[in-house]
Amino acid sequence: MTRALTPVPFTDVDGIADFWANPVRLPETKLVPRGLLRTAVAVENLRRTGAKLRGEDVELLLSVPIRHCASEVFKVIEGAAYVLRRRRDARLEADVDELVDVIAAAQQPDGYLYEPHIVGVPADAEERRLGLLGPGPYTAGDLSHETYNMGHLYEAAVAYRDATGKRALLDVAEKNARHIERAFFLGDPAYNDGIPIERAPDHQEMELALLKLASATGEDRYRRMAKRFLEIRGVTFVPSGAGLADPQVGQHPSLADVIAHIQAPEFAQQHAPVAEQTTAVGHAVRALYQYIAMADIAALTDEQEYLPVLTRIWDDMAGRKMYLTGGVGVAHRIESFGAPFELPNAGSYSETCAAIANVLLGIRLAVLTRDAAFADVAEIALYNNVLAGTSLDGETFFYVNPLESDGSHPFNHGSAARSPWFSTACCPTNLARFLPQLPGLFYAHGDDDLYVLLYATNTTEVALAGGRVRVTQQTRYPYEGGVRIAVEPAESDASRRFAVHLRIPSWTGGRFLPSGPYDFDGEPGTEWQVRVNGRVLEVPVSSGFAMVEREWSAGDVVELVLPMPVRRNSCVPEVTSNRGRRAFTRGPLVLCAEDVDNPPSVFELELARDLSAFTVDSTAIGELDVPRVRIHTADDRSADLTLIPYFAWGNRGAGAMSVWLPVADDPAEGPNS
Ligand SMILES: [Zn+2]
Repeated sequence: MTRALTPVPFTDVDGIADFWANPVRLPETKLVPRGLLRTAVAVENLRRTGAKLRGEDVELLLSVPIRHCASEVFKVIEGAAYVLRRRRDARLEADVDELVDVIAAAQQPDGYLYEPHIVGVPADAEERRLGLLGPGPYTAGDLSHETYNMGHLYEAAVAYRDATGKRALLDVAEKNARHIERAFFLGDPAYNDGIPIERAPDHQEMELALLKLASATGEDRYRRMAKRFLEIRGVTFVPSGAGLADPQVGQHPSLADVIAHIQAPEFAQQHAPVAEQTTAVGHAVRALYQYIAMADIAALTDEQEYLPVLTRIWDDMAGRKMYLTGGVGVAHRIESFGAPFELPNAGSYSETCAAIANVLLGIRLAVLTRDAAFADVAEIALYNNVLAGTSLDGETFFYVNPLESDGSHPFNHGSAARSPWFSTACCPTNLARFLPQLPGLFYAHGDDDLYVLLYATNTTEVALAGGRVRVTQQTRYPYEGGVRIAVEPAESDASRRFAVHLRIPSWTGGRFLPSGPYDFDGEPGTEWQVRVNGRVLEVPVSSGFAMVEREWSAGDVVELVLPMPVRRNSCVPEVTSNRGRRAFTRGPLVLCAEDVDNPPSVFELELARDLSAFTVDSTAIGELDVPRVRIHTADDRSADLTLIPYFAWGNRGAGAMSVWLPVADDPAEGPNS
């Protein structure tokens, strides 16, 4: 069995420049300040919960979904903590300290913390009327978000302790976790008539967060709780709902359908014990958070428990249920995975949160297995679906990330364009805490092996077995495929032997993603190159990593040259929406056509069968330059086509967009049948 690697934490990676300079700074400049403002109602509800506990007569404000609005406060605090970890900011810290006081005051003496059940909710309030809250704590099952909120509380508490050394929020989190242990596993007279609830949490955020709490505190009981929750999922309770009857693409299910769907066994992955699950099903974010928790358990055990299950599920997801953008989830399936090859373009859900989880899972699996394919998928999800989640200026957001929009259908939770916020704001608050941690996904190491998982301009020092190594990476990636990495022993002038492993992305081969329904239209891959100190080297490649093992000394530079031609992707005919269509990619970037560049309409575009000439220049969108690809055609029936990176779409107002474009005269059944 392959020995797992150790990731280099984001706090050890500095000097972020070039492509990532802007996105990684957005939490500090935009996402956290906006999050603090936009979660004011949720904070007020927490404040009122504290007042209720002091004996005051209060009611909750019902202008936000009260089931889960507190989670957004916790996620913004987590993002703020990572910002503070980089740079002291007395005012931001004071703001968070004030929030911590409000949260601590909203916690019951026994550790329970959930505003709706502490304050109480009028019987005619919508969330109560729909059965989304239940009559008391832990009675609404998977409709509730009690443990979802609590899990985000733990993650925020760990981050804030690590950033400031202050324990107050961590004390709240630990008190809550001990309450969960009593109520779910030991029996607490105040809950479920004193009988242990013994049921998997409403959201797998809890399992994931308990593992984080365990490693941050050294308390093994939290790890045991996470493990126990994973073991009882799909065992002690299996919902009996029928689920959602196969709806037509584009139809909007009724509320009754939605609730029936949530009560299906697959929705919260309770259709089978987790160790026996074989496919990616149900709510995509819940599923991916579960797989992340399972990967974290695998990393803690010598025998890498759960790893075979995870690779089996991942093969199903990446092979049959993932969009070209790395997105998962189908709109009419209600935030859930679709059936195999059910990947409608306009009807894609591809929630930003699910894509973030896909990145986190892929990097974890790459670290566990030393197999680059997992990181390849993480990279595609990152550069396409995740980055599309925020506008380039960090002012507006996509919750839903379709591969086609007519510019008028309000796919983005009521809007056909990017939105400044959402009533359920999981996605922008997730970006606020994910982007600052991104540099923690760049590197991993084991013994005398340094792995470069993602390419970006930065500097770090990595502790290999033989001593520390200084790494300075410079690149215009993902816009250009040259990566220059200076690698040298940090502590002495002497040379030392160790191996640098460079990920050779799947898109250098014959396909954009390492597996799944897409390939480069039958065209072969490109020739990449590794050079050391200017000399081309023949290097062995293992599981997608090129290995450069040698004596390294001061001044040594390894360069990776990855050609980035524009590639044309085709799709297997099982994906009916892509039949007779092609999509374009360049490097790790999916390209798309927008009306604004292709008047009068992208829906009038038709690709010539013979597409040979591409030119690449750049265009300014707002304050940033992004690459622009022009496809020229000799066929006078077809117009030239202008494409931009998918992540940059929707930055020039509402308008139509399409990734998969029809080919003139292509047989309806597509090229592969
Ligand atoms: Zn979300």
